[in-house]
Amino acid sequence: MANQQQYDFIIAGAGAAGLSLAWHLTHSPKLREKQILLIDRSAKTENDRTWGYWAKGAEPFDDYVSWQFKDAEFFSRYYTDVISLAPYSYRVLEGRRFYEVVRGWLGQFPNVHWLQTSIEGFDDTDNGAFVYTGAGSFRAPWIFNSCFLGEALKKAAQKSISLRQHFKGWVIDTSVPAFQPNLLRLFDFRTPQQGCLRFFYLIPQSPTRALVEYTLFSDSLLAPAAYEQELKRYIREVLQLNEYSIVEEEWGVIPMTTYSFPKNRGQHILNIGSVGGASKPSTGYTFRRIQQQCSEIVQLLEEGKRPLPESTPLRHRLYDATMLNILDRQGDEGEAVFARLFEKNPVQRLFKFLDEETNVGEELLLMQTVNKPLFLLSMLNLTIKHA
Ligand SMILES: Cc1cc2nc3c(=O)[nH]c(=O)nc-3n(C[C@H](O)[C@H](O)[C@H](O)COP(=O)(O)OP(=O)(O)OC[C@H]3O[C@@H](n4cnc5c(N)ncnc54)[C@H](O)[C@@H]3O)c2cc1C
Repeated sequence: MANQQQYDFIIAGAGAAGLSLAWHLTHSPKLREKQILLIDRSAKTENDRTWGYWAKGAEPFDDYVSWQFKDAEFFSRYYTDVISLAPYSYRVLEGRRFYEVVRGWLGQFPNVHWLQTSIEGFDDTDNGAFVYTGAGSFRAPWIFNSCFLGEALKKAAQKSISLRQHFKGWVIDTSVPAFQPNLLRLFDFRTPQQGCLRFFYLIPQSPTRALVEYTLFSDSLLAPAAYEQELKRYIREVLQLNEYSIVEEEWGVIPMTTYSFPKNRGQHILNIGSVGGASKPSTGYTFRRIQQQCSEIVQLLEEGKRPLPESTPLRHRLYDATMLNILDRQGDEGEAVFARLFEKNPVQRLFKFLDEETNVGEELLLMQTVNKPLFLLSMLNLTIKHA
Protein backbone atom coordinates (compact mmCIF):
# COMPACT_ATOMS: atom_id res chain seq x y z
CA MET A 1 0.00 0.00 0.00
CA ALA A 2 1.21 3.46 -0.87
CA ASN A 3 0.16 5.00 2.41
CA GLN A 4 0.01 3.20 5.72
CA GLN A 5 0.33 5.90 8.34
CA GLN A 6 -0.16 4.84 11.92
CA TYR A 7 -2.37 6.58 14.49
CA ASP A 8 -3.43 5.77 18.04
CA PHE A 9 -7.12 5.98 17.18
CA ILE A 10 -8.87 6.11 13.83
CA ILE A 11 -12.43 7.37 13.82
CA ALA A 12 -14.14 6.19 10.64
CA GLY A 13 -17.17 8.42 10.11
CA ALA A 14 -17.22 11.89 11.66
CA GLY A 15 -20.94 12.39 12.28
CA ALA A 16 -22.65 12.47 15.67
CA ALA A 17 -20.81 9.46 17.09
CA GLY A 18 -17.38 10.03 15.50
CA LEU A 19 -17.23 13.70 16.46
CA SER A 20 -18.61 12.98 19.93
CA LEU A 21 -15.94 10.36 20.48
CA ALA A 22 -13.20 12.78 19.38
CA TRP A 23 -14.71 15.36 21.74
CA HIS A 24 -14.73 12.93 24.68
CA LEU A 25 -11.18 11.69 23.90
CA THR A 26 -9.80 15.22 23.81
CA HIS A 27 -11.48 16.04 27.12
CA SER A 28 -9.59 13.20 28.78
CA PRO A 29 -6.32 14.35 30.36
CA LYS A 30 -4.92 10.83 29.77
CA LEU A 31 -5.86 10.58 26.08
CA ARG A 32 -5.99 14.10 24.71
CA GLU A 33 -2.49 13.94 23.21
CA LYS A 34 -3.04 10.71 21.31
CA GLN A 35 -2.74 10.78 17.52
CA ILE A 36 -6.30 10.70 16.19
CA LEU A 37 -7.40 10.46 12.54
CA LEU A 38 -11.00 11.37 11.65
CA ILE A 39 -12.25 10.24 8.25
CA ASP A 40 -15.50 11.25 6.59
CA ARG A 41 -16.53 11.67 2.98
CA SER A 42 -18.59 14.72 3.86
CA ALA A 43 -17.35 18.11 5.08
CA LYS A 44 -20.32 18.20 7.51
CA THR A 45 -21.16 21.86 7.06
CA GLU A 46 -24.89 21.52 6.48
CA ASN A 47 -27.66 21.62 9.03
CA ASP A 48 -28.60 18.09 8.02
CA ARG A 49 -30.34 17.14 11.29
CA THR A 50 -31.61 18.56 14.56
CA TRP A 51 -31.13 16.44 17.65
CA GLY A 52 -33.69 16.44 20.42
CA TYR A 53 -33.14 14.57 23.67
CA TRP A 54 -34.40 14.75 27.22
CA ALA A 55 -32.12 14.78 30.25
CA LYS A 56 -32.19 15.67 33.93
CA GLY A 57 -28.60 16.58 34.65
CA ALA A 58 -25.77 18.24 32.75
CA GLU A 59 -25.01 16.80 29.30
CA PRO A 60 -21.86 17.30 27.22
CA PHE A 61 -23.33 19.72 24.66
CA ASP A 62 -25.68 21.71 26.91
CA ASP A 63 -23.84 24.95 26.25
CA TYR A 64 -24.67 24.73 22.57
CA VAL A 65 -28.33 23.70 22.55
CA SER A 66 -30.51 26.22 20.77
CA TRP A 67 -33.80 25.49 22.52
CA GLN A 68 -34.78 23.87 25.78
CA PHE A 69 -38.32 22.95 26.87
CA LYS A 70 -39.83 22.25 30.29
CA ASP A 71 -43.32 21.51 28.97
CA ALA A 72 -44.61 19.40 26.12
CA GLU A 73 -47.93 18.93 24.35
CA PHE A 74 -49.47 15.58 23.50
CA PHE A 75 -52.42 15.33 21.09
CA SER A 76 -54.31 12.17 20.23
CA ARG A 77 -57.84 10.85 19.82
CA TYR A 78 -57.61 9.27 23.28
CA TYR A 79 -55.69 11.73 25.38
CA THR A 80 -54.56 15.34 24.99
CA ASP A 81 -52.62 17.35 27.53
CA VAL A 82 -49.75 19.70 28.32
CA ILE A 83 -47.17 17.78 30.33
CA SER A 84 -44.58 19.22 32.68
CA LEU A 85 -41.27 17.47 32.01
CA ALA A 86 -39.53 18.61 35.23
CA PRO A 87 -37.01 17.57 36.49
CA TYR A 88 -36.19 16.68 32.87
CA SER A 89 -35.93 19.16 30.07
CA TYR A 90 -36.05 18.50 26.36
CA ARG A 91 -33.00 19.96 24.65
CA VAL A 92 -32.58 20.68 20.97
CA LEU A 93 -29.19 20.88 19.30
CA GLU A 94 -28.81 21.85 15.67
CA GLY A 95 -26.52 19.70 13.55
CA ARG A 96 -24.69 22.65 12.01
CA ARG A 97 -23.94 24.10 15.45
CA PHE A 98 -22.70 20.73 16.74
CA TYR A 99 -20.40 20.21 13.75
CA GLU A 100 -19.00 23.76 14.04
CA VAL A 101 -18.45 23.57 17.80
CA VAL A 102 -16.72 20.19 17.71
CA ARG A 103 -14.55 21.11 14.72
CA GLY A 104 -13.61 24.39 16.42
CA TRP A 105 -12.67 22.58 19.63
CA LEU A 106 -10.65 19.88 17.83
CA GLY A 107 -8.86 22.56 15.78
CA GLN A 108 -6.67 23.41 18.77
CA PHE A 109 -5.18 19.89 18.85
CA PRO A 110 -2.26 19.38 16.43
CA ASN A 111 -2.56 15.64 17.12
CA VAL A 112 -6.09 15.50 15.60
CA HIS A 113 -5.96 14.91 11.84
CA TRP A 114 -8.75 15.07 9.26
CA LEU A 115 -9.24 13.27 6.01
CA GLN A 116 -12.16 13.86 3.67
CA THR A 117 -12.52 10.71 1.60
CA SER A 118 -14.65 7.62 1.28
CA ILE A 119 -14.13 4.61 3.51
CA GLU A 120 -14.06 1.39 1.55
CA GLY A 121 -13.36 -1.33 4.09
CA PHE A 122 -11.46 -2.58 7.11
CA ASP A 123 -9.05 -5.34 8.05
CA ASP A 124 -8.36 -6.65 11.49
CA THR A 125 -4.99 -8.19 12.45
CA ASP A 126 -3.50 -9.52 15.68
CA ASN A 127 -1.81 -6.18 16.38
CA GLY A 128 -4.31 -3.63 15.20
CA ALA A 129 -6.55 -2.75 12.31
CA PHE A 130 -6.50 -1.08 8.91
CA VAL A 131 -9.00 1.16 7.23
CA TYR A 132 -8.99 1.33 3.44
CA THR A 133 -10.03 4.62 1.92
CA GLY A 134 -10.02 6.50 -1.37
CA ALA A 135 -6.82 8.18 -0.14
CA GLY A 136 -4.87 5.12 1.00
CA SER A 137 -4.89 2.82 3.98
CA PHE A 138 -4.30 3.76 7.59
CA ARG A 139 -3.52 1.76 10.67
CA ALA A 140 -4.25 2.00 14.40
CA PRO A 141 -4.52 -0.23 17.45
CA TRP A 142 -8.18 0.85 17.65
CA ILE A 143 -10.56 1.87 14.88
CA PHE A 144 -14.02 3.23 15.76
CA ASN A 145 -16.49 2.85 12.93
CA SER A 146 -19.85 4.61 12.54
CA CYS A 147 -20.38 4.00 8.80
CA PHE A 148 -23.00 1.61 7.56
CA LEU A 149 -21.12 -0.16 4.81
CA GLY A 150 -24.25 -1.86 3.52
CA GLU A 151 -24.20 -5.20 5.24
CA ALA A 152 -25.46 -4.32 8.75
CA LEU A 153 -28.83 -2.95 7.67
CA LYS A 154 -29.44 -5.86 5.30
CA LYS A 155 -28.80 -8.33 8.13
CA ALA A 156 -31.06 -6.32 10.40
CA ALA A 157 -33.87 -6.52 7.85
CA GLN A 158 -33.43 -10.24 7.26
CA LYS A 159 -33.19 -11.56 10.78
CA SER A 160 -35.33 -9.37 12.98
CA ILE A 161 -38.35 -7.21 13.45
CA SER A 162 -37.12 -4.26 11.45
CA LEU A 163 -39.05 -1.06 11.18
CA ARG A 164 -37.77 2.29 10.09
CA GLN A 165 -38.51 5.65 11.61
CA HIS A 166 -38.73 7.89 8.58
CA PHE A 167 -39.56 11.53 8.62
CA LYS A 168 -39.54 14.74 6.73
CA GLY A 169 -39.39 18.09 8.47
CA TRP A 170 -39.72 21.68 7.36
CA VAL A 171 -38.57 24.72 9.26
CA ILE A 172 -41.28 27.23 8.41
CA ASP A 173 -41.47 30.97 8.86
CA THR A 174 -44.73 32.82 9.29
CA SER A 175 -45.34 36.54 9.01
CA VAL A 176 -47.51 36.63 12.14
CA PRO A 177 -46.82 34.94 15.51
CA ALA A 178 -48.12 31.36 15.29
CA PHE A 179 -46.08 29.28 17.77
CA GLN A 180 -45.66 29.16 21.53
CA PRO A 181 -41.88 29.28 22.00
CA ASN A 182 -41.87 27.47 25.38
CA LEU A 183 -44.05 24.57 24.35
CA LEU A 184 -42.67 21.54 22.56
CA ARG A 185 -45.18 19.43 20.62
CA LEU A 186 -43.77 15.98 21.35
CA PHE A 187 -46.56 13.93 19.77
CA ASP A 188 -49.46 15.04 17.63
CA PHE A 189 -51.43 12.14 16.23
CA ARG A 190 -53.85 14.33 14.29
CA THR A 191 -52.95 12.57 11.06
CA PRO A 192 -54.55 9.45 9.49
CA GLN A 193 -52.79 6.35 10.81
CA GLN A 194 -53.43 4.08 7.77
CA GLY A 195 -51.94 0.90 9.20
CA CYS A 196 -48.78 2.30 10.77
CA LEU A 197 -47.88 4.74 13.51
CA ARG A 198 -47.76 8.31 12.18
CA PHE A 199 -47.44 11.53 14.10
CA PHE A 200 -46.26 15.12 13.93
CA TYR A 201 -43.57 16.65 16.10
CA LEU A 202 -43.15 20.40 16.36
CA ILE A 203 -40.23 22.35 17.77
CA PRO A 204 -41.03 26.05 18.07
CA GLN A 205 -37.91 28.11 17.48
CA SER A 206 -39.56 31.52 17.91
CA PRO A 207 -43.13 32.86 17.72
CA THR A 208 -42.78 32.91 13.93
CA ARG A 209 -40.54 29.91 13.22
CA ALA A 210 -40.91 26.17 13.91
CA LEU A 211 -39.62 22.80 12.78
CA VAL A 212 -42.66 20.73 11.81
CA GLU A 213 -41.95 17.07 11.23
CA TYR A 214 -44.06 14.23 9.85
CA THR A 215 -42.85 10.92 11.28
CA LEU A 216 -43.80 7.32 10.53
CA PHE A 217 -42.75 3.97 11.99
CA SER A 218 -43.01 1.36 9.23
CA ASP A 219 -40.93 -0.97 7.12
CA SER A 220 -41.29 0.84 3.83
CA LEU A 221 -40.77 4.47 2.96
CA LEU A 222 -43.34 6.72 1.28
CA ALA A 223 -42.90 8.43 -2.07
CA PRO A 224 -41.25 11.84 -1.43
CA ALA A 225 -44.41 13.72 -2.45
CA ALA A 226 -46.49 11.90 0.18
CA TYR A 227 -44.52 13.40 3.08
CA GLU A 228 -44.91 16.87 1.59
CA GLN A 229 -48.61 16.44 0.96
CA GLU A 230 -49.24 15.50 4.59
CA LEU A 231 -46.97 18.28 5.90
CA LYS A 232 -48.96 20.79 3.84
CA ARG A 233 -52.27 19.39 5.10
CA TYR A 234 -51.16 19.50 8.75
CA ILE A 235 -49.90 23.07 8.44
CA ARG A 236 -53.10 24.19 6.72
CA GLU A 237 -55.71 22.23 8.72
CA VAL A 238 -54.17 21.69 12.16
CA LEU A 239 -51.86 24.68 12.51
CA GLN A 240 -54.33 26.74 10.44
CA LEU A 241 -51.62 28.53 8.55
CA ASN A 242 -52.08 29.48 4.95
CA GLU A 243 -49.09 31.71 4.48
CA TYR A 244 -45.65 30.50 5.38
CA SER A 245 -42.26 29.96 3.79
CA ILE A 246 -40.06 26.88 4.08
CA VAL A 247 -36.58 27.93 5.18
CA GLU A 248 -34.98 24.52 5.77
CA GLU A 249 -35.78 20.85 5.21
CA GLU A 250 -34.68 17.71 6.99
CA TRP A 251 -35.19 14.16 5.97
CA GLY A 252 -34.10 11.05 7.81
CA VAL A 253 -34.40 7.34 8.39
CA ILE A 254 -33.47 5.75 11.71
CA PRO A 255 -33.33 1.97 12.15
CA MET A 256 -35.80 0.57 14.70
CA THR A 257 -34.94 -3.08 14.97
CA THR A 258 -34.55 -5.99 17.33
CA TYR A 259 -31.39 -6.89 15.41
CA SER A 260 -28.50 -6.77 17.81
CA PHE A 261 -25.94 -4.68 15.90
CA PRO A 262 -22.49 -6.19 16.47
CA LYS A 263 -20.40 -3.98 18.74
CA ASN A 264 -17.25 -4.85 16.86
CA ARG A 265 -16.02 -6.06 13.47
CA GLY A 266 -12.97 -7.83 14.83
CA GLN A 267 -10.62 -7.48 17.78
CA HIS A 268 -9.60 -3.91 17.04
CA ILE A 269 -12.53 -2.44 15.11
CA LEU A 270 -15.38 -1.23 17.29
CA ASN A 271 -18.73 -0.02 16.02
CA ILE A 272 -20.16 3.18 17.47
CA GLY A 273 -23.28 5.28 16.89
CA SER A 274 -26.27 3.79 15.08
CA VAL A 275 -24.12 1.10 13.49
CA GLY A 276 -22.99 0.14 17.00
CA GLY A 277 -26.59 -0.21 18.20
CA ALA A 278 -26.93 3.24 19.79
CA SER A 279 -30.41 3.90 18.35
CA LYS A 280 -33.03 2.85 20.90
CA PRO A 281 -35.05 0.22 19.01
CA SER A 282 -38.48 1.34 20.20
CA THR A 283 -38.02 5.12 19.86
CA GLY A 284 -35.09 5.83 17.53
CA TYR A 285 -33.61 8.27 20.05
CA THR A 286 -29.84 8.01 19.70
CA PHE A 287 -27.97 11.23 20.51
CA ARG A 288 -27.82 10.92 24.28
CA ARG A 289 -27.03 7.21 24.04
CA ILE A 290 -24.09 8.12 21.80
CA GLN A 291 -22.76 10.39 24.55
CA GLN A 292 -23.06 7.55 27.06
CA GLN A 293 -21.38 5.13 24.64
CA CYS A 294 -18.47 7.54 24.03
CA SER A 295 -17.97 8.33 27.69
CA GLU A 296 -17.87 4.59 28.49
CA ILE A 297 -15.34 3.97 25.68
CA VAL A 298 -13.07 6.74 26.98
CA GLN A 299 -13.28 5.41 30.52
CA LEU A 300 -12.35 1.89 29.36
CA LEU A 301 -9.41 3.26 27.33
CA GLU A 302 -8.22 5.26 30.33
CA GLU A 303 -8.27 2.07 32.38
CA GLY A 304 -6.27 0.27 29.68
CA LYS A 305 -9.20 -2.04 28.86
CA ARG A 306 -10.76 -3.07 25.56
CA PRO A 307 -13.16 -0.24 24.71
CA LEU A 308 -16.30 -2.32 24.24
CA PRO A 309 -19.30 -0.67 25.94
CA GLU A 310 -21.86 -2.71 27.87
CA SER A 311 -24.84 -4.12 25.98
CA THR A 312 -28.43 -3.11 26.68
CA PRO A 313 -29.82 -5.16 29.60
CA LEU A 314 -31.82 -8.19 28.47
CA ARG A 315 -35.02 -6.93 30.14
CA HIS A 316 -34.99 -3.76 28.10
CA ARG A 317 -34.27 -5.67 24.90
CA LEU A 318 -37.40 -7.67 25.60
CA TYR A 319 -39.48 -4.52 26.24
CA ASP A 320 -38.20 -2.96 23.01
CA ALA A 321 -38.96 -6.14 21.06
CA THR A 322 -42.49 -6.34 22.50
CA MET A 323 -43.22 -2.75 21.51
CA LEU A 324 -41.69 -3.14 18.05
CA ASN A 325 -43.67 -6.30 17.47
CA ILE A 326 -46.91 -4.42 18.21
CA LEU A 327 -45.92 -1.52 15.97
CA ASP A 328 -44.95 -3.94 13.22
CA ARG A 329 -48.03 -6.16 13.33
CA GLN A 330 -50.67 -3.74 14.59
CA GLY A 331 -49.42 -0.30 13.66
CA ASP A 332 -52.94 1.14 13.96
CA GLU A 333 -52.80 0.42 17.72
CA GLY A 334 -49.72 2.63 18.14
CA GLU A 335 -51.63 5.85 18.83
CA ALA A 336 -53.66 4.23 21.64
CA VAL A 337 -50.54 2.58 23.08
CA PHE A 338 -48.63 5.87 23.25
CA ALA A 339 -51.68 7.79 24.51
CA ARG A 340 -52.16 5.32 27.34
CA LEU A 341 -48.49 5.35 28.30
CA PHE A 342 -48.52 9.15 28.54
CA GLU A 343 -51.91 9.40 30.22
CA LYS A 344 -51.36 6.77 32.89
CA ASN A 345 -47.72 7.39 33.79
CA PRO A 346 -45.85 10.41 35.05
CA VAL A 347 -43.64 11.38 32.11
CA GLN A 348 -40.66 11.14 34.49
CA ARG A 349 -41.29 7.38 34.88
CA LEU A 350 -41.56 7.01 31.12
CA PHE A 351 -38.33 8.90 30.44
CA LYS A 352 -36.51 6.92 33.12
CA PHE A 353 -37.82 3.71 31.60
CA LEU A 354 -36.81 4.72 28.08
CA ASP A 355 -33.38 5.67 29.44
CA GLU A 356 -33.20 2.08 30.78
CA GLU A 357 -32.63 3.37 34.31
CA THR A 358 -35.77 1.95 35.99
CA ASN A 359 -35.72 -0.91 38.48
CA VAL A 360 -38.05 -3.92 38.20
CA GLY A 361 -40.54 -2.34 40.63
CA GLU A 362 -40.88 0.77 38.48
CA GLU A 363 -41.22 -1.38 35.37
CA LEU A 364 -44.05 -3.34 36.99
CA LEU A 365 -45.83 -0.06 37.75
CA LEU A 366 -45.51 0.90 34.11
CA MET A 367 -46.75 -2.49 32.94
CA GLN A 368 -49.89 -2.06 35.04
CA THR A 369 -50.82 0.86 32.81
CA VAL A 370 -50.59 -0.73 29.37
CA ASN A 371 -53.21 -2.68 27.43
CA LYS A 372 -52.22 -6.01 28.98
CA PRO A 373 -53.78 -8.41 26.45
CA LEU A 374 -52.08 -6.54 23.60
CA PHE A 375 -48.65 -6.66 25.24
CA LEU A 376 -49.00 -10.25 26.47
CA LEU A 377 -50.04 -11.43 23.01
CA SER A 378 -47.08 -9.60 21.52
CA MET A 379 -44.73 -11.33 23.99
CA LEU A 380 -46.32 -14.68 23.22
CA ASN A 381 -45.97 -14.10 19.51
CA LEU A 382 -42.29 -13.21 19.98
CA THR A 383 -41.73 -16.39 21.99
CA ILE A 384 -43.34 -18.52 19.27
CA LYS A 385 -41.32 -16.76 16.55
CA HIS A 386 -38.05 -17.43 18.37
CA ALA A 387 -38.86 -20.90 19.67
C1 LIG B 1 -32.55 13.89 10.13
C2 LIG B 1 -32.28 13.13 11.40
C3 LIG B 1 -32.77 13.62 12.61
C4 LIG B 1 -32.52 12.91 13.80
N1 LIG B 1 -33.00 13.42 14.97
C5 LIG B 1 -32.71 12.78 16.13
C6 LIG B 1 -33.14 13.33 17.36
O1 LIG B 1 -33.87 14.32 17.41
N2 LIG B 1 -32.74 12.71 18.50
C7 LIG B 1 -31.96 11.60 18.50
O2 LIG B 1 -31.59 11.10 19.57
N3 LIG B 1 -31.57 11.03 17.34
C8 LIG B 1 -31.92 11.60 16.16
N4 LIG B 1 -31.49 11.05 14.98
C9 LIG B 1 -30.82 9.74 15.03
C10 LIG B 1 -29.32 9.82 15.30
O3 LIG B 1 -29.04 10.62 16.43
C11 LIG B 1 -28.56 10.37 14.12
O4 LIG B 1 -28.78 9.58 12.99
C12 LIG B 1 -27.07 10.44 14.40
O5 LIG B 1 -26.51 11.29 13.44
C13 LIG B 1 -26.41 9.06 14.39
O6 LIG B 1 -25.03 9.25 14.56
P1 LIG B 1 -23.97 8.34 13.82
O7 LIG B 1 -22.65 8.91 14.11
O8 LIG B 1 -24.25 6.92 14.11
O9 LIG B 1 -24.30 8.53 12.26
P2 LIG B 1 -24.04 9.84 11.41
O10 LIG B 1 -24.21 11.06 12.23
O11 LIG B 1 -24.89 9.67 10.20
O12 LIG B 1 -22.50 9.74 11.04
C14 LIG B 1 -21.99 8.77 10.17
C15 LIG B 1 -20.93 9.49 9.35
O13 LIG B 1 -20.28 8.52 8.52
C16 LIG B 1 -20.04 9.11 7.26
N5 LIG B 1 -19.96 8.01 6.30
C17 LIG B 1 -20.86 7.02 6.10
N6 LIG B 1 -20.41 6.14 5.18
C18 LIG B 1 -19.19 6.59 4.81
C19 LIG B 1 -18.20 6.10 3.92
N7 LIG B 1 -18.36 4.97 3.23
N8 LIG B 1 -17.06 6.83 3.77
C20 LIG B 1 -16.86 7.98 4.48
N9 LIG B 1 -17.74 8.48 5.36
C21 LIG B 1 -18.89 7.79 5.52
C22 LIG B 1 -21.23 10.02 7.02
O14 LIG B 1 -20.90 11.08 6.10
C23 LIG B 1 -21.51 10.53 8.42
O15 LIG B 1 -20.87 11.77 8.67
C24 LIG B 1 -31.76 11.71 13.78
C25 LIG B 1 -31.32 11.21 12.55
C26 LIG B 1 -31.58 11.90 11.38
C27 LIG B 1 -31.09 11.31 10.07
